[in-house]
Amino acid sequence: MRFYSLLKIRAEALLAAGSHVIILGDLNTAHRPIDHWDAVNLECFEEDPGRKWMDGLLSSLGCQTGSHVGPFIDSYRCFQPKQEGAFTCWSAVSGARHLNYGSRLDYVLGDRTLVIDTFQDSFLLPEVMGSDHCPVGAVLSVSSVPAKECPPLCTRFLPEFAGTQLKIHRFLVRLKDPVFRHSALKLNNKTQVQMHQNKARVRSTRPRPSQAGSSRGQKNLTSYFHPSSSHPQASPNLELPSVGALMTPKTSEKEVMTKVVEGQASASEAKDEKKIRTSFWKSVLGGPLSMPLCRGHREPCVRRTVKKPGPNLGRHFYICARPQGPPTDPSSRCNFFLWSRPS
Ligand SMILES: [Zn+2]
Repeated sequence: MRFYSLLKIRAEALLAAGSHVIILGDLNTAHRPIDHWDAVNLECFEEDPGRKWMDGLLSSLGCQTGSHVGPFIDSYRCFQPKQEGAFTCWSAVSGARHLNYGSRLDYVLGDRTLVIDTFQDSFLLPEVMGSDHCPVGAVLSVSSVPAKECPPLCTRFLPEFAGTQLKIHRFLVRLKDPVFRHSALKLNNKTQVQMHQNKARVRSTRPRPSQAGSSRGQKNLTSYFHPSSSHPQASPNLELPSVGALMTPKTSEKEVMTKVVEGQASASEAKDEKKIRTSFWKSVLGGPLSMPLCRGHREPCVRRTVKKPGPNLGRHFYICARPQGPPTDPSSRCNFFLWSRPS
């Protein structure tokens, strides 16, 4: 709330100084019930302090009418006043985006004059993936004039960013290794000049291959595994040798298998070998956990972990694997819940 109030003070000061102002991005508040999927079930929707702040900031009746409250206009609602299901944020954990079970938290707010005079469009881009939010945008009929110098409040002048926004060539180092020098010669002249100018050096903490010694190289993958003690029943009759005894870097999986198979019976068929191979790897890796079925769909659940601080922090539980959606939609997640037994 302190950030909200500071933002409003700053925006109003810029407006009072004769500037136009656009506030855009994630405001973390769904302003009206139409901007929130489940608004009818939220108690005291209008009383939320974030919503009250937006009420004071925004004109309530869009850009066509003369009566207004706040100095800004929610440009999306100006162009799409009645559009339902227009959301920009969905819970990523619950897969709510599949059923558009979300809210509109991202805005392009412009001051009234700017929106009325220059905004041509304002839109959401829910088809753009990559985040739990989607991008929002607006089109203005203005020509941009580059400033002669950065404005005084530009982030590059903030002390916490001092010296961090460097030119790309500052990150390049001149290489001394002849092997790399050969490939470096292929770089174009301009890059070469920049590399020569660069005085910076990068200190590598990674040991060179010659220092590491041959004994520390990559070993066989199986040497990293040990049979799981919690699955002793996986191969009761096989008497598999211990992994540690057989898995030297020079012993391949195939050799291990051959010894195992020879120890069992000389007449082992390929089918049996496959069975032994399967049970061996199950004893090493444990195999996938069997998932309980949800009550609503009789489908395998997903396991989640409690992240919220409290007595249950870190505990595992099972819920329906389907995406979260409206409770009335039978294809959405059912309310199945089961604690995982401590292992
Ligand atoms: Zn279910």
